[in-house]
Amino acid sequence: MTHNFIDLIAKPGAQDEPAVRALQEALDELGYPEPRFGVDGDLGQQTLGLVGRAVSELLGYDGDTTPNNTVPGIVAHALVNLAAARRWLSLADPQEQPPRAAAADTGGIDRFPLVQDFRSESWDGKERRKNPIARVDTICLHQMAVASVRAKRYENTPIPESLAHLGDHSGPVYVPNETGKIKRWRKLSIHFAITCGPESRAWLMHDLLWRLPHGHGWNRRSVGLEFEGYFAGIHDLGSGKHSKFWRPKSRPDRLPMVPTEAQLEAGRQCCRFIIGDIARLGGRIKYVGAHRQSYGVKASDPGALIWQGVAVPILNEFGLEVAPVLKHPKHPGRDIPAQWDPQRRPEVSY
Ligand SMILES: [Zn+2]
Repeated sequence: MTHNFIDLIAKPGAQDEPAVRALQEALDELGYPEPRFGVDGDLGQQTLGLVGRAVSELLGYDGDTTPNNTVPGIVAHALVNLAAARRWLSLADPQEQPPRAAAADTGGIDRFPLVQDFRSESWDGKERRKNPIARVDTICLHQMAVASVRAKRYENTPIPESLAHLGDHSGPVYVPNETGKIKRWRKLSIHFAITCGPESRAWLMHDLLWRLPHGHGWNRRSVGLEFEGYFAGIHDLGSGKHSKFWRPKSRPDRLPMVPTEAQLEAGRQCCRFIIGDIARLGGRIKYVGAHRQSYGVKASDPGALIWQGVAVPILNEFGLEVAPVLKHPKHPGRDIPAQWDPQRRPEVSY
């Protein structure tokens, strides 16, 4: 589609103008987004200022590029064509393409080998009401803070592949050396249990739409995952330092677990299944949240390593957002700590 950029000369203060819109889109692509009004087609002072900056910085011309508060056609054309040329070059070079959000896989549970249907064997005592599909938009992550299996103590252990970018681990940790037995968790009122250990699975215990009491303010809109194991709230793999770790009185020497790669992968497959199945049912998952965000008492829920190994890659893969902190009346939710997410994505609001 071509626009008559000559119009810009004739219409200072133009509003909702297609040619202005095209110019603003080009500015946005070139790295000069409109911070306040976005692409609105209005030729105001903000757009004029951005044009001046872009022409000066990108084309090296420092004269008056917006005489009488207009944008001459030749200036508008230069910016629009520059953006188009850059787009064309980046398409020609696949490395330069911006990351695209993955599409939801709506093919059902069989598409995810680590996700197993356990519904016939789970306890259905809390299945009372279903959430309307239009309202279900959040995945909520938890840790059980217990494990049904023994973990082996390692002084220095290879860390899971998907956390390798966090550094070589230098402190003692526990790693489960057998896989959790689901039977102990079959009564949990949550959609999935993700067993720990080398052959971890995500066990589907309840239909995704059942409203189950796992996540406080999120029960009406979320699907919940409970990761088996005891994990520290803050666990810096690079230095081996950890804090915010709950120990039972009977186990004062307990060290925090490091999840296995299998458990992290089961968690990620579980999220992919949820995203696909909610889409298949006509809804859309938009947010990933940690229980600490809806209930401040659960500050270490699910903990740094589960967040880094499951939530962060899923947020990136599907272009989702971190769920907002909720105002629980007694125990307000807490932000995602910087140690959980070095990119520090902003939390949004519902
Ligand atoms: Zn929880």
